[in-house]
Amino acid sequence: MSETRLEMRAGESADVVLRGATVLDPVAGIDAPHDVVVRDGRIAELAAPASASASADGLEEIDATGLHAFPAFFDPHVHLRVPGQEHKEDIETGSRSAAAGGYCGVLAMANTAPPVSTPADVEALLADARASASVRTGFLATVTAAMQGEELTEMASLRDAGAAGFSDDGLPLRSARILRRALQYQRLCGGTIALHEEDPELSGAGVMHEGPVSAALGLEGVPSISESTTIARDAAIAGYEQARIHVQHLSAAESVEAVRAAKAAGVRITCEASPHHLCLTDEAVRSLDPRRHKMNPPLRSEADRQALIAGLLDGTIDCIATDHAPHAAEEKEVPFEQAAMGVTGLETAFAALHTHLVLPGTIELGLLVEKLSAGAEPFGVERPSLAPGSEANVALCDLAATWTVGEDGYESRSSNSWCAGEQLTGRVQMTLAGGQIAYRLRSFSMGVAA
Ligand SMILES: [Zn+2]
Ligand SMILES: [Zn+2]
Repeated sequence: MSETRLEMRAGESADVVLRGATVLDPVAGIDAPHDVVVRDGRIAELAAPASASASADGLEEIDATGLHAFPAFFDPHVHLRVPGQEHKEDIETGSRSAAAGGYCGVLAMANTAPPVSTPADVEALLADARASASVRTGFLATVTAAMQGEELTEMASLRDAGAAGFSDDGLPLRSARILRRALQYQRLCGGTIALHEEDPELSGAGVMHEGPVSAALGLEGVPSISESTTIARDAAIAGYEQARIHVQHLSAAESVEAVRAAKAAGVRITCEASPHHLCLTDEAVRSLDPRRHKMNPPLRSEADRQALIAGLLDGTIDCIATDHAPHAAEEKEVPFEQAAMGVTGLETAFAALHTHLVLPGTIELGLLVEKLSAGAEPFGVERPSLAPGSEANVALCDLAATWTVGEDGYESRSSNSWCAGEQLTGRVQMTLAGGQIAYRLRSFSMGVAA
């Protein structure tokens, strides 16, 4: 079977010592202060604090005292908007945005203009990533030709071209027959199928969660069952075909229950939740600010948010994915009903979740770190690790730093951040991705020169 391909710009391999960092990699069982020695782009050694000799070895010395070093994050669900919507984002700006958020890898969705449906499309994007990406970047292809929902793409050829998986994200697969056939092909050619779960008949013209808030605002709602009934259908089909599915952006309590039941029944199903669904509820929509609060699936109730948190805690939810969805100002600066759906999230995911969930004691830091890099595995990509010998993929974070989102602008070309203007605690200072230094916060002091 073909492999998932990820590409990034070739550059200088990192040779640095992160002096005295608190190293936390729950999967590798590491939780202690170390000098993290990175030589030739790999984790050469986790040495006792202040023991590694930097100057002798010609390594750049970085004072990481008081900072945390985590395995860099991996986002299996971003929209880079290429080809066709480069005014919103492109591979260079989107991957820079990822690096600024502590990510070492991303997978881009295929609902571009035109959609990514042919092997030539995938090859062109991988070549573009090789020329311009700051972090390892992979591309899904659509499940159906041109996302029309009718005919399957040439899945085997797309896999041979390096497609990371398949998704019609942006739209659900309406036809159970099409999904079933796609899963039959997947068993032959590999490539996880990622599903945007929604029943268009139930969603109708809804623009927010259906509940007391939508009633109060007089806005049409999207009921939770639009998502959960489709997940139940698709999990049953995947179970029948013994195939593998990944459910995108879970938003509702009923959906968490549907995935939990499918897992208990032995279905090969994984799923993700997004930072905005874990931090906000439909109460935020009272702002009627589509730039921050209109997305699909919509922000739901507090009970739904609590169910997502419970799903993280008990393992029902495998990973956190941002669904980073840049939009131009003119698509957002219109009445709520007409505005485009989606928010950006790469630069703020860690800080927002640290602020909203870790600091109040709702979840532990280790769980957050684990879930932010777990999104690699459903797509057959090796999870970033700080174990010696690994490629250097490191997010160096200051957990005490406070900052206001957007005050220094964004690396993304778009500014529709769901937490724009919010003060967050915790900030990525530096990111190593694919063995290279992918990002340094401008104000981050580089310590004593070697
Ligand atoms: Zn979606
Ligand atoms: Zn999406």
